[in-house]
Amino acid sequence: MSANDADRATVAGRAEGETATSEDGPVVDLSGVTFGYTATPVVEDVSLTIDPGEYVAVVGPNGSGKSTLMRLMLGLLEPDAGTARLFGERADRFDDGERIGYVAQQASAAKGMPITVREVVKMGRFPHVRFGRLSSEDWAIVDDALATVGMSAFTDRRVTQLSGGQRQRAFIARALASEADLLVLDEPTVGVDAESVDAFYNLLAALNAEGITIILIEHDLGAVVEHADRAVCLNREIYFDGSTDEFVESDALVRAFGAEARLLTGVRE
Ligand code: ADP
Repeated sequence: MSANDADRATVAGRAEGETATSEDGPVVDLSGVTFGYTATPVVEDVSLTIDPGEYVAVVGPNGSGKSTLMRLMLGLLEPDAGTARLFGERADRFDDGERIGYVAQQASAAKGMPITVREVVKMGRFPHVRFGRLSSEDWAIVDDALATVGMSAFTDRRVTQLSGGQRQRAFIARALASEADLLVLDEPTVGVDAESVDAFYNLLAALNAEGITIILIEHDLGAVVEHADRAVCLNREIYFDGSTDEFVESDALVRAFGAEARLLTGVRE
């Protein structure tokens, strides 16, 4: 897919104004959240609000609690202290799963599934249909989602026979078909070739321009600064929360990453 295709992309099956707006309240609302797998907290006293339409990157060294924070946001873990709300509801009781598209790391992205791209994307419609039977309108939404991510030419290919970048786009298409208005991505470009990474970020930008909220865990700080609007820098606690421009100027990187910061290039010149 070229950058132009991504620029022209519109979100499958979604009329203007159907994504959540800031009047609907925050998408994610964490207040004083502390969590530990053992007695030692790995996330401590984190307060964080993410509004509809934001493009937020969560950064931090390995083991700093990023994936844990994401699980807390999505209600997959329950805080030991504090509250986690998702679309205004208690995150662990949230049951409107189709509003959320989750794209896991490439390494764990269901490599063994012997099903086609179209079947993957079709799954996105299941929460919306009865008895798994798709109407012609549902199929149109599936086809639109495939077109949006530039995968129309691969609909009958098995996901096991896709490149890393193509597979990630298929999973995004599934989220679009389900009419998700929050996309959560955990290091989505690990193992994806450089050219496809650019196309992938162009796609995310186009989806965000359509009003979809994006929360991205990303180890590549250059990509974060280039693509996200807001950076949340985590190392158990939040070290920085603000615009990516301010993040570059701040000393949060050195404080959160310690010695590792010296290894990170392209951000603090
Ligand atoms: P990151 O995503 O920033 O690499 P994680 O949230 O995966 O960090 O991990 C934070 C800390 O919690 C690490 O010390 C990790 O070893 C620990 N941890 C993560 N998952 C589990 C788990 N399921 N059980 C016990 N400890 C865990």
